[in-house]
Amino acid sequence: MSDTTALARQDIAAHLHPFTNLAAHADVGPLMVTRGDGIYVEDEQGRRYIEGMSGLWCSALGFSHPRLVAAGVKALQTLPYYHTFNHRSNPAVAELAERLLAVAPVPMARVFFANSGSEANDSAVKMIWYYHNAIGQPNKKKILARQRAYHGVTVASASLSGLPTNHRDFDLPIDRISHVDCPHHYRYGLPGESEADFATRLAEALEQRILAEGPDTVAAFFAEPVMGAGGVIVPPQTYFPKVQAVLRKYDVLLVADEVICGFGRTGNMFGSTTLGLQPDLLTCAKALSSGYVPISAVMVSQRVHEALAANSGKIGTFGHGYTYSGHPVACAIALETLKVFEDERIVERVRALTPAFQAGLHQLGQRASVGESRGVGLIGALELVADKATRQPHAPEVKAGPRLAALAQAEGLIVRAMGDTVALCPPLIISEAELATLFQRLGTAFDRYEHASA
Ligand code: PLP
Repeated sequence: MSDTTALARQDIAAHLHPFTNLAAHADVGPLMVTRGDGIYVEDEQGRRYIEGMSGLWCSALGFSHPRLVAAGVKALQTLPYYHTFNHRSNPAVAELAERLLAVAPVPMARVFFANSGSEANDSAVKMIWYYHNAIGQPNKKKILARQRAYHGVTVASASLSGLPTNHRDFDLPIDRISHVDCPHHYRYGLPGESEADFATRLAEALEQRILAEGPDTVAAFFAEPVMGAGGVIVPPQTYFPKVQAVLRKYDVLLVADEVICGFGRTGNMFGSTTLGLQPDLLTCAKALSSGYVPISAVMVSQRVHEALAANSGKIGTFGHGYTYSGHPVACAIALETLKVFEDERIVERVRALTPAFQAGLHQLGQRASVGESRGVGLIGALELVADKATRQPHAPEVKAGPRLAALAQAEGLIVRAMGDTVALCPPLIISEAELATLFQRLGTAFDRYEHASA
């Protein structure tokens, strides 16, 4: 696919890629991305692409925001590194923590920092276990997540993920973590079942599961407000209120994984507000720094914080944290990101662009090759099917999603194929004109795809 330049040859010879078919890498070759500006990235040959996925759902402010760059340079010149263990702190982490608490979707008491979404979710799992030991419930340790969820790749977060490729041959999930139904009405709703009835059925199934496991053994439920990597699944409006009623009944903590939804993506600062979650813990990353530097966070509620504090007092320390927790450069860039969100009214901007974005998706959804178009705010997806009327999926060997993504790339648009679902998650700074160009390129890719399939 790519031209074999010296850089490409280096990459093939030396770099073990994440989420890549390693056996095919030498043949496929890398797309060597060398620079970025605004919503565009450019490859080694100077070809420019609209980054319709914000990289991996993260570069909300585009690829060249001058304020983030300046904040990073200043932080590097002032204090390039320090740690936060053993009562140490730095100005950026203290200010960032306070700001995050101020924008949290529900009252939260403290913020813990890590480097990735996986680490944030792993940390949340450990905090939940520690919490239940602290409050004298050592048997309440099982964790439920959902089929098709994506929560990361560390041992615990990959176990939370509900996608087969994250488990297969990695000997996961671990035995304290298991999965319940995915709230995708189009795929899993019964014939004639309304979205509200589907949500009721899933909440009832969750209750039966908790009863079968033993309510005294179930500690927490992890959920992305909108599932991202599982196919951009927007649950029915009544799903989370119904699920939360069950969780409260059995005193099961709710963790909102806002790694994709956080920071404006769904039209509110957090997806929890859009989808009606009231989490006890909240994890976030990605757009927190617009992806410019690795940083993630776990927010915890007052009751969780009180238990963590009391237990660490008893033991002598809270024995968890990373060398780079609260890294001063990452925190300075994240802090500037939150200031830009406020100054440039990014959430309002998302709301203003949402009708055009969702209309563009909906229009493509009318095509014979698309079974369902779905989305909220500036995130969405198109699910390709073999038969629109019966919703019959393509056989895996057809590779419909990857084919469409490759055609889009040839048109200068990067989208992401997750199986046969093609996702869009553009930078939130995209203009209306750029959005129109994005859909025009995707439309051309669809024309080519449908022509080739005819
Ligand atoms: N949670 C969600 C919802 C994600 O989408 C991701 C990554 O895509 C993660 C967690 C893991 O984040 P990371 O890749 O930074 O470990």
